[in-house]
Amino acid sequence: MTEQDLIIYENELIRIYSPNIHKAGGTIFIYLHKPSGQVIIVDCGIGFSAHKMNKDITKPDLTEMELVIMRLIRDLIRRRNPKPIDALLTHGHFDHIAGVEILSREFEMMWHGSPTTEAMLNRSRHANKRSNEEIKENSKIKFNPLKAEYGTLNLGKFVIKYFPTVHSIPETLSFIVETIDGFKGLHMAEFRTKECSLFPGLSDKMFRGVTAGAEGKEYDVVLFDALRSEPGISRSEDTIEKPIEKILTSPDFPEEGALILPFISSKVGQIGIIQKIANRHGCTMFPAGRAMAEMTAYARSKGWIEEQIKFTDKKFKRLLIPCTGSQNEPGAALPRALEGSARDLCLVPTDWLFMVQCIIPQYKDTAGEMYRNILRRCNRFVAGYSDIKHIGLHTGNNKVILADKLIGEKFETSSGHGRLGDQKLLKAAAPCKNNNYIGYQCEEEPTEPADAEVKPSEIEKPITTKSELLTLVDNYITSLNQRNMAEPRPRIY
Ligand SMILES: [Zn+2]
Repeated sequence: MTEQDLIIYENELIRIYSPNIHKAGGTIFIYLHKPSGQVIIVDCGIGFSAHKMNKDITKPDLTEMELVIMRLIRDLIRRRNPKPIDALLTHGHFDHIAGVEILSREFEMMWHGSPTTEAMLNRSRHANKRSNEEIKENSKIKFNPLKAEYGTLNLGKFVIKYFPTVHSIPETLSFIVETIDGFKGLHMAEFRTKECSLFPGLSDKMFRGVTAGAEGKEYDVVLFDALRSEPGISRSEDTIEKPIEKILTSPDFPEEGALILPFISSKVGQIGIIQKIANRHGCTMFPAGRAMAEMTAYARSKGWIEEQIKFTDKKFKRLLIPCTGSQNEPGAALPRALEGSARDLCLVPTDWLFMVQCIIPQYKDTAGEMYRNILRRCNRFVAGYSDIKHIGLHTGNNKVILADKLIGEKFETSSGHGRLGDQKLLKAAAPCKNNNYIGYQCEEEPTEPADAEVKPSEIEKPITTKSELLTLVDNYITSLNQRNMAEPRPRIY
């Protein structure tokens, strides 16, 4: 790999570098003002693989690809020697911030981003410190919090305008990157057009930011940070409301039942919707897993989530449990609950589970195995038809409830990322010279999994004895260890 492989756009004033994000698993773009050598970095996802593996990112065990990219980026910046280097962060997902620590040790950096991005960054640094006592304050990260509204930053030869953007995490920002020489680029963060009802008006604000930026002059380049788009329009978190209502009013749902809802903790809108439903139905929302609990507390402090109503009446004993581990991430609540070592979650036979987060394709096998094991342990397993097919579960299994049937229409889990339909809508609002749209593309149509009427397999048989349960837990831990993804953990049996 050479520097040339990183360039995705070039004109006489500006070059944009981007590593191959799909292979490296992270996102980093560099805008270079050629006449002066000044660079502006947007996002820094280097080291994502180390993060994913739950390793210490301050001593990163980078993949070979990441090391090459890191070296090329380091050389590219060093040759120009700008001080300090300004960097913009669109949002606080690991694949966009995991390398902030690494780059901050190499260069004098000033990071600009929203308060939630800063909170996520601090959270990930503290999580790493907790996991390794010897890590001290070995790097200072300078952060300039930007109000998640419209604003302007004057950074040398660059003028940056920022505006709010709809993504699965609040306070995401997109940027209009201008130079004093008249270059104007639109750098869209990962986005979708359908907003969550908890943050009304956000989609309008995003479109207004895009059209205002284009006023008087077409963009020279428009970059959609969504190179791997699927057809259609991404759903809002609101889609989970109807099926949860149906579950809670179902005569089968136990008096003292718990509904487990696994998803990625940064979906604050989803946590907020669950809290609203909990208050409405006299349930208690109990976030399980450290990330989910911390995110809930943060969102409450911002006023995004209603307070939990304390139900003193004895008959209100139902729990709604949003929890981490939807992708079988090592150390997260759900896989640990399965092996019996979760701090704040255990699976009991009256539990219902509702898959409100689809499986990211690269985790299909391991997360699928986890869900099939959970099916054996819980009372009912609710999921959309497409997710059931994805895991390969038998729809005739009497524990399986199709969310689509519950609500009488197609149920789709909201993917955090925008899709081709979202990009088309935004493209219309962002006129661009010479059709310089980057990221406006579609991967092949996702192949529909084969017929869902999969024969019931061994793994779907319910567990009836304690020894069966112990065998299941043993097999599960062995499979985790074989993948080298988790440390052996104490079992509570
Ligand atoms: Zn993201």
